Amino acid sequence: MPIFQCTRCKRTNPPPKRCAACKKAWYCGAECQKRDWVCHIFDCNPTREINTADYLALAVERDLIPEHRQTCEDYGFFRPIQQNRDLLGVYVSLLHPNYMAVKPQVVHKWRKQGALAENIKKEFEKSPDRMKSPDYLWFLRHEDVFRSDPQVEERSFIRSGANDLVRRAWVFTGGSPTLSTEEMQRQVSALPPHKFQCHKFFAELLSGSHPSPEDDVLWVEFGFCTARDREDERNIARAYKWLMYQTTLDEFSDAYRSKTMIELFKKKGFNDLNPCIVDLADPCLVDILSNPGIRTVWYLRQYIETKIIHGRQNQKIKPSPIVAADFGFTNCLDARDHDLLFDLYKEFFALGSRANPIELCEAAQEERLFCVFYGGSLNAD
Ligand SMILES: [Zn+2]
Ligand SMILES: [Zn+2]
Repeated sequence: MPIFQCTRCKRTNPPPKRCAACKKAWYCGAECQKRDWVCHIFDCNPTREINTADYLALAVERDLIPEHRQTCEDYGFFRPIQQNRDLLGVYVSLLHPNYMAVKPQVVHKWRKQGALAENIKKEFEKSPDRMKSPDYLWFLRHEDVFRSDPQVEERSFIRSGANDLVRRAWVFTGGSPTLSTEEMQRQVSALPPHKFQCHKFFAELLSGSHPSPEDDVLWVEFGFCTARDREDERNIARAYKWLMYQTTLDEFSDAYRSKTMIELFKKKGFNDLNPCIVDLADPCLVDILSNPGIRTVWYLRQYIETKIIHGRQNQKIKPSPIVAADFGFTNCLDARDHDLLFDLYKEFFALGSRANPIELCEAAQEERLFCVFYGGSLNAD
């Protein structure tokens, strides 16, 4: 017979009993079950809806800045990291069973009533030693934090906290924050491919970065390859980040798979709110985000950019066979020839908005590249 241990204290004696609601967790007694509820509520079948105060209580229990997006917004965790630590200290005083032990449901109600600051103050005032508490002193200096409207604050909280990118995307998209890392990784890698890619993309955006041309197909597939320069790439990342906050992972990954990302941007009101960050009518962006296949010219650009990053001398970086065939690298007699051709394409993409990669690709398919460079409309001079 298998030996069960208490989920909370890990003891096997007295023999633990199963949680009646989910039959998955085991507890040695009522005390452990009660103390574990802040964690177990996420994995059990609670009779009420889980709210952001529950995520806050979990953060208090673990002594970690919350990662759940809405919780950060609701409770003000969008500040520089040290301030987030101080803020967490106030919530620890408020919620932790060893201190004021206010229930998450009560904190939730206060916030819904817009009376969080007033009620936290009242709780502290019950304690005669409050002026000795650094958390209370911090609270008095930052009462506005508990009153401010998080919607208008800059959401810099995503740069703080843990650096586990996958977990951040996992929690961001509604996954259980208490799941073990192994189980989370197992579930993430079991996602269908298009959803897995979008999950990865979310993780990058949440960490404040975006795909780079090196070793990342997402750089092409999300249209970063159409950017004129690095600043333009950052603008595209900003646009996706905005969209990420307006959608679910399902909605986003469906648009990615069905090539309707531009429609999704429009549906969420992107152009009205962000008139000049990214032009959704840009023919290159439309080409990548809406047309069924991806033209080889974009992989050509990926090759060029990767080689620029690693240095032209780096012989390990080679174009894929299809790019090599389409754009004439297979016809190069030697390395010098190859370098000359590389420089030609490099100059072409450096033209920015004056270069037309779609036209270049069509020319390549019709085997008239020579005309394009030496007499056609794409000539740099
Ligand atoms: Zn126990
Ligand atoms: Zn349970």
